[in-house]
Amino acid sequence: MPVALITGASRGLGKQIALSLSAHGYSVIANYAASEKEAHDLVKTLGNNSIALRADVGDMKQVREMAGKIEKAFGRLDVIINNAGITKDNLLLKQTETEWDSIVGTNLKGCFNVIKTVAPLMIQSGGGHIINISSYSGVKGKAGQSAYSASKAALLGLTFSSARELSGYNIRVNALLPGYMMTEMGMTAQKAAEKAKKESILNTLSQPQEAADFILFLLKTKNITGQVFSLDSRII
Ligand code: NDP
Repeated sequence: MPVALITGASRGLGKQIALSLSAHGYSVIANYAASEKEAHDLVKTLGNNSIALRADVGDMKQVREMAGKIEKAFGRLDVIINNAGITKDNLLLKQTETEWDSIVGTNLKGCFNVIKTVAPLMIQSGGGHIINISSYSGVKGKAGQSAYSASKAALLGLTFSSARELSGYNIRVNALLPGYMMTEMGMTAQKAAEKAKKESILNTLSQPQEAADFILFLLKTKNITGQVFSLDSRII
């Protein structure tokens, strides 16, 4: 049975990806940082020996401990979805160093920590697929989101370089811009949601289910790596 690690799976997009992958025969490792009950309640509904593992992705020590537990529990890994993310919107001139460090530390360094630590198990398993969840804000920028945009733009650089480095191990690395979704994160910025809808030529917002369906499709492909997929109707 293929095994998938999904970071930030306790709610929102990560939870939907966990539900969809589990329904399609994956054992899921539902990572979380703070939402212990939600993550454990989720895995009870998943089956396929799925487990919940706590680790702040921005903390290399915790990610290493998680990697050890994954190896012990499953002995293999086929998919990594780098989904965990935070935003603490603030104008650049008001953004504190602490806010900057925590946003970039989670959204960018968190993905480095996970890939560096867990990809060796994927290599041992014969290869796999890494999907990094970036954002439209990372390619277009947004007032009040300098740190978030910078972290998500840099995540594309990490995607391109790691796709090149890992291709020899049969590991594909792609990035998604999932569109504006009314998850807990999306609901914190009502005006941004309205703006995203206006900018969308279909005049719609995005659904976590549609992103999860796209991921299921991408995981079935063999010849796609180093790409960025935009999942809404805002033209880049
Ligand atoms: P939510 O805020 O709803 O969920 C975020 C998830 O990330 C939670 O499960 C949270 O769990 C987890 N998380 C946060 N920090 C950490 C950490 N340090 N270590 C491990 N887990 C962590 O956000 P969304 O579901 O909306 O976002 C998912 C991804 O999609 C993010 O990367 C986001 O940037 C991206 N995205 C979202 C968009 C949107 O419109 N919502 C648009 C474009 C991109 P816990 O409570 O346990 O910390």
